[in-house]
Amino acid sequence: MYRTIRISRRLFVTTAAVFVLSLLLSFVSASIRLPKGYTRLYPGLYVSAEEDEKQGDTPDTVQIKKAYLTFDDGPSGVTPRILDVLDELGVKATFFVIGRNSEADVETLRRIHEEGHTIGLHSYSHEYQKIYHSVEDYLADFHALEQWVFEITGERAEIFRFPGGSNNSTAKKSVMTAIAAEMTRRGYTYYDWNVIAHDDKKAAYSPEVLFQNVKASAKGKLDRDLILLFHDNATRKTTPDVLPQVVEYFRENGYEFDQITSDTRPIQFQKPKK
Ligand SMILES: [Zn+2]
Repeated sequence: MYRTIRISRRLFVTTAAVFVLSLLLSFVSASIRLPKGYTRLYPGLYVSAEEDEKQGDTPDTVQIKKAYLTFDDGPSGVTPRILDVLDELGVKATFFVIGRNSEADVETLRRIHEEGHTIGLHSYSHEYQKIYHSVEDYLADFHALEQWVFEITGERAEIFRFPGGSNNSTAKKSVMTAIAAEMTRRGYTYYDWNVIAHDDKKAAYSPEVLFQNVKASAKGKLDRDLILLFHDNATRKTTPDVLPQVVEYFRENGYEFDQITSDTRPIQFQKPKK
Protein backbone atom coordinates (compact mmCIF):
# COMPACT_ATOMS: atom_id res chain seq x y z
CA MET A 1 0.00 0.00 0.00
CA TYR A 2 2.70 2.45 1.11
CA ARG A 3 4.82 1.48 -1.94
CA THR A 4 1.94 2.15 -4.33
CA ILE A 5 1.48 5.59 -2.90
CA ARG A 6 5.22 6.26 -3.20
CA ILE A 7 5.19 5.25 -6.86
CA SER A 8 2.14 7.27 -7.78
CA ARG A 9 3.54 10.27 -5.94
CA ARG A 10 6.77 9.98 -7.90
CA LEU A 11 4.72 9.65 -11.08
CA PHE A 12 2.78 12.74 -10.15
CA VAL A 13 5.94 14.75 -9.50
CA THR A 14 7.47 13.62 -12.81
CA THR A 15 4.30 14.44 -14.78
CA ALA A 16 4.06 17.84 -13.14
CA ALA A 17 7.70 18.56 -13.92
CA VAL A 18 7.25 17.59 -17.59
CA PHE A 19 4.15 19.76 -17.78
CA VAL A 20 5.87 22.81 -16.28
CA LEU A 21 8.90 22.29 -18.52
CA SER A 22 6.81 22.06 -21.70
CA LEU A 23 4.91 25.20 -20.68
CA LEU A 24 8.20 26.98 -20.17
CA LEU A 25 9.50 25.76 -23.54
CA SER A 26 6.43 26.93 -25.45
CA PHE A 27 6.70 30.30 -23.73
CA VAL A 28 10.37 30.62 -24.68
CA SER A 29 9.79 29.60 -28.32
CA ALA A 30 6.90 32.08 -28.60
CA SER A 31 9.07 34.88 -27.29
CA ILE A 32 11.89 33.99 -29.76
CA ARG A 33 9.36 34.56 -32.57
CA LEU A 34 9.97 31.70 -34.95
CA PRO A 35 9.59 32.57 -38.65
CA LYS A 36 6.00 32.36 -39.87
CA GLY A 37 5.08 29.38 -42.05
CA TYR A 38 4.35 31.50 -45.09
CA THR A 39 7.94 32.75 -45.23
CA ARG A 40 8.83 29.29 -46.55
CA LEU A 41 6.23 29.37 -49.35
CA TYR A 42 7.33 30.04 -52.97
CA PRO A 43 11.10 30.11 -52.37
CA GLY A 44 11.59 31.62 -55.85
CA LEU A 45 9.36 34.59 -55.08
CA TYR A 46 12.13 37.02 -54.18
CA VAL A 47 13.62 40.05 -55.85
CA SER A 48 17.38 39.71 -56.04
CA ALA A 49 18.91 42.01 -53.46
CA GLU A 50 20.98 44.79 -54.98
CA GLU A 51 21.71 48.26 -53.71
CA ASP A 52 18.48 49.70 -52.46
CA GLU A 53 18.92 53.45 -52.78
CA LYS A 54 15.59 54.93 -53.82
CA GLN A 55 15.80 58.02 -55.96
CA GLY A 56 13.42 60.87 -55.43
CA ASP A 57 12.88 64.22 -53.87
CA THR A 58 15.43 64.24 -51.10
CA PRO A 59 15.35 67.67 -49.49
CA ASP A 60 19.07 68.41 -49.86
CA THR A 61 19.31 67.82 -53.60
CA VAL A 62 17.64 69.77 -56.38
CA GLN A 63 16.11 67.34 -58.80
CA ILE A 64 13.81 67.53 -61.75
CA LYS A 65 10.25 66.88 -60.63
CA LYS A 66 8.99 63.55 -61.88
CA ALA A 67 5.49 62.53 -62.84
CA TYR A 68 4.62 58.87 -63.23
CA LEU A 69 1.58 57.73 -65.20
CA THR A 70 0.29 54.45 -63.82
CA PHE A 71 -2.52 52.29 -65.19
CA ASP A 72 -4.27 49.66 -63.05
CA ASP A 73 -6.26 46.58 -64.02
CA GLY A 74 -5.06 46.03 -67.59
CA PRO A 75 -4.36 44.62 -70.06
CA SER A 76 -7.69 45.45 -71.65
CA GLY A 77 -9.26 46.39 -74.96
CA VAL A 78 -8.26 50.00 -74.29
CA THR A 79 -4.54 49.33 -73.67
CA PRO A 80 -3.53 49.43 -77.37
CA ARG A 81 -4.93 52.98 -77.63
CA ILE A 82 -3.18 54.01 -74.41
CA LEU A 83 0.07 52.64 -75.85
CA ASP A 84 -0.45 54.51 -79.13
CA VAL A 85 -0.99 57.80 -77.29
CA LEU A 86 2.01 57.25 -75.00
CA ASP A 87 4.14 56.57 -78.07
CA GLU A 88 3.02 59.82 -79.69
CA LEU A 89 3.77 61.71 -76.47
CA GLY A 90 7.15 60.06 -76.00
CA VAL A 91 6.19 58.93 -72.49
CA LYS A 92 7.03 55.66 -70.78
CA ALA A 93 4.48 54.59 -68.18
CA THR A 94 3.82 51.89 -65.61
CA PHE A 95 1.11 49.23 -65.90
CA PHE A 96 -0.03 47.38 -62.79
CA VAL A 97 -1.54 44.36 -64.46
CA ILE A 98 -3.99 41.65 -63.50
CA GLY A 99 -4.39 38.10 -64.82
CA ARG A 100 -6.20 38.12 -68.14
CA ASN A 101 -5.85 35.09 -70.31
CA SER A 102 -7.51 35.95 -73.62
CA GLU A 103 -5.20 35.78 -76.61
CA ALA A 104 -5.62 39.50 -77.26
CA ASP A 105 -4.74 40.42 -73.66
CA VAL A 106 -1.67 38.19 -73.67
CA GLU A 107 -0.57 39.88 -76.90
CA THR A 108 -1.17 43.30 -75.32
CA LEU A 109 0.88 42.39 -72.24
CA ARG A 110 3.72 41.41 -74.57
CA ARG A 111 3.36 44.73 -76.39
CA ILE A 112 3.52 46.75 -73.13
CA HIS A 113 6.78 44.99 -72.35
CA GLU A 114 8.25 45.30 -75.86
CA GLU A 115 7.54 49.02 -75.97
CA GLY A 116 9.64 49.50 -72.86
CA HIS A 117 7.03 50.37 -70.24
CA THR A 118 7.26 49.02 -66.72
CA ILE A 119 5.06 46.09 -65.82
CA GLY A 120 4.13 46.04 -62.16
CA LEU A 121 2.04 43.35 -60.50
CA HIS A 122 -1.45 44.14 -59.22
CA SER A 123 -3.36 40.90 -58.60
CA TYR A 124 -4.12 37.76 -60.55
CA SER A 125 -7.77 37.47 -59.54
CA HIS A 126 -8.36 41.04 -58.31
CA GLU A 127 -10.88 39.54 -55.85
CA TYR A 128 -10.38 41.57 -52.69
CA GLN A 129 -12.18 39.15 -50.35
CA LYS A 130 -10.06 36.26 -51.56
CA ILE A 131 -6.59 37.81 -51.66
CA TYR A 132 -6.87 39.77 -48.42
CA HIS A 133 -8.14 36.81 -46.39
CA SER A 134 -4.64 35.87 -45.22
CA VAL A 135 -0.96 36.27 -46.07
CA GLU A 136 -1.01 32.78 -47.61
CA ASP A 137 -3.94 33.71 -49.87
CA TYR A 138 -2.24 36.93 -50.91
CA LEU A 139 0.99 35.12 -51.75
CA ALA A 140 -0.80 32.43 -53.77
CA ASP A 141 -2.48 35.07 -55.92
CA PHE A 142 0.68 37.15 -56.28
CA HIS A 143 2.73 34.09 -57.18
CA ALA A 144 0.27 33.09 -59.92
CA LEU A 145 0.47 36.57 -61.44
CA GLU A 146 4.25 36.74 -61.14
CA GLN A 147 4.58 33.42 -62.99
CA TRP A 148 2.11 34.44 -65.69
CA VAL A 149 3.88 37.74 -66.38
CA PHE A 150 7.27 36.05 -66.41
CA GLU A 151 6.11 33.39 -68.88
CA ILE A 152 4.89 36.06 -71.30
CA THR A 153 7.56 38.75 -70.93
CA GLY A 154 10.58 36.71 -69.81
CA GLU A 155 11.22 39.34 -67.17
CA ARG A 156 10.68 39.29 -63.41
CA ALA A 157 8.52 42.12 -62.11
CA GLU A 158 9.95 43.87 -59.04
CA ILE A 159 7.25 46.36 -58.14
CA PHE A 160 3.59 46.00 -57.35
CA ARG A 161 0.46 47.83 -56.26
CA PHE A 162 -2.09 46.58 -53.76
CA PRO A 163 -5.67 46.48 -55.09
CA GLY A 164 -7.39 49.32 -53.26
CA GLY A 165 -4.02 50.63 -52.08
CA SER A 166 -1.96 49.68 -49.05
CA ASN A 167 -4.64 51.22 -46.81
CA ASN A 168 -7.59 49.36 -48.35
CA SER A 169 -10.51 48.67 -46.06
CA THR A 170 -11.03 45.03 -47.11
CA ALA A 171 -8.02 43.51 -45.38
CA LYS A 172 -7.94 43.31 -41.59
CA LYS A 173 -5.27 45.69 -40.31
CA SER A 174 -3.18 42.86 -38.84
CA VAL A 175 -3.34 40.86 -42.10
CA MET A 176 -2.45 43.90 -44.21
CA THR A 177 0.51 44.74 -41.97
CA ALA A 178 1.76 41.16 -42.25
CA ILE A 179 1.34 41.09 -46.06
CA ALA A 180 3.17 44.40 -46.53
CA ALA A 181 6.01 43.27 -44.27
CA GLU A 182 6.32 39.89 -45.99
CA MET A 183 6.33 41.37 -49.51
CA THR A 184 8.93 43.93 -48.48
CA ARG A 185 11.04 41.19 -46.89
CA ARG A 186 10.98 39.42 -50.26
CA GLY A 187 12.40 42.52 -51.91
CA TYR A 188 9.26 43.83 -53.64
CA THR A 189 8.33 47.51 -53.45
CA TYR A 190 4.71 48.66 -53.54
CA TYR A 191 3.52 51.95 -54.94
CA ASP A 192 0.36 53.83 -54.01
CA TRP A 193 -0.43 57.20 -55.64
CA ASN A 194 -0.95 60.88 -54.85
CA VAL A 195 -2.98 62.01 -57.87
CA ILE A 196 -6.17 60.29 -58.96
CA ALA A 197 -8.22 60.74 -62.15
CA HIS A 198 -11.36 59.08 -60.75
CA ASP A 199 -11.72 57.22 -64.04
CA ASP A 200 -13.03 54.12 -62.25
CA LYS A 201 -16.42 55.57 -61.39
CA LYS A 202 -19.62 54.04 -62.76
CA ALA A 203 -20.01 56.04 -65.93
CA ALA A 204 -17.01 56.87 -68.08
CA TYR A 205 -16.23 60.57 -67.71
CA SER A 206 -15.49 62.82 -70.66
CA PRO A 207 -11.79 63.64 -71.18
CA GLU A 208 -12.51 67.18 -70.00
CA VAL A 209 -13.95 65.98 -66.66
CA LEU A 210 -11.04 63.59 -66.20
CA PHE A 211 -8.60 66.42 -66.82
CA GLN A 212 -10.36 68.60 -64.22
CA ASN A 213 -10.24 65.67 -61.78
CA VAL A 214 -6.49 65.27 -62.27
CA LYS A 215 -5.84 68.99 -61.86
CA ALA A 216 -7.98 69.16 -58.72
CA SER A 217 -6.23 66.13 -57.27
CA ALA A 218 -2.77 67.58 -58.00
CA LYS A 219 -3.64 70.96 -56.50
CA GLY A 220 -1.13 72.00 -53.86
CA LYS A 221 1.22 69.15 -54.78
CA LEU A 222 3.10 70.68 -57.71
CA ASP A 223 6.27 70.93 -55.64
CA ARG A 224 6.82 67.17 -55.44
CA ASP A 225 7.01 63.98 -57.46
CA LEU A 226 3.62 62.72 -58.54
CA ILE A 227 2.28 59.22 -59.11
CA LEU A 228 -0.91 59.48 -61.14
CA LEU A 229 -3.49 56.71 -60.94
CA PHE A 230 -5.50 55.84 -64.05
CA HIS A 231 -7.39 52.69 -64.93
CA ASP A 232 -6.90 50.49 -67.95
CA ASN A 233 -10.33 49.05 -68.44
CA ALA A 234 -12.31 48.18 -71.58
CA THR A 235 -15.32 50.18 -70.36
CA ARG A 236 -13.25 53.32 -69.71
CA LYS A 237 -12.74 54.39 -73.28
CA THR A 238 -12.00 58.05 -72.53
CA THR A 239 -8.83 57.47 -70.50
CA PRO A 240 -6.47 57.49 -73.55
CA ASP A 241 -8.04 60.77 -74.75
CA VAL A 242 -7.15 62.75 -71.63
CA LEU A 243 -3.48 61.78 -71.62
CA PRO A 244 -2.20 64.46 -74.07
CA GLN A 245 -3.75 67.24 -71.93
CA VAL A 246 -2.41 65.72 -68.72
CA VAL A 247 1.12 65.35 -70.07
CA GLU A 248 1.10 68.89 -71.48
CA TYR A 249 -0.17 70.34 -68.19
CA PHE A 250 2.51 68.76 -66.03
CA ARG A 251 5.29 69.43 -68.53
CA GLU A 252 4.28 73.10 -68.45
CA ASN A 253 4.60 72.90 -64.66
CA GLY A 254 8.17 71.67 -64.86
CA TYR A 255 7.62 67.94 -64.76
CA GLU A 256 9.38 65.19 -66.60
CA PHE A 257 7.44 61.97 -67.22
CA ASP A 258 9.09 58.72 -66.31
CA GLN A 259 8.26 55.11 -65.61
CA ILE A 260 8.49 53.63 -62.13
CA THR A 261 11.34 51.22 -61.54
CA SER A 262 12.42 49.51 -58.33
CA ASP A 263 14.75 52.51 -57.79
CA THR A 264 11.87 54.98 -57.66
CA ARG A 265 11.08 56.33 -54.22
CA PRO A 266 7.65 54.91 -53.40
CA ILE A 267 4.52 56.61 -52.19
CA GLN A 268 3.03 54.31 -49.54
CA PHE A 269 -0.11 55.09 -47.56
CA GLN A 270 0.97 52.50 -44.99
CA LYS A 271 4.71 52.02 -44.58
CA PRO A 272 5.80 48.40 -44.22
CA LYS A 273 6.96 47.32 -40.76
CA LYS A 274 10.53 46.03 -40.89
ZN1 LIG B 1 -7.28 47.40 -59.32
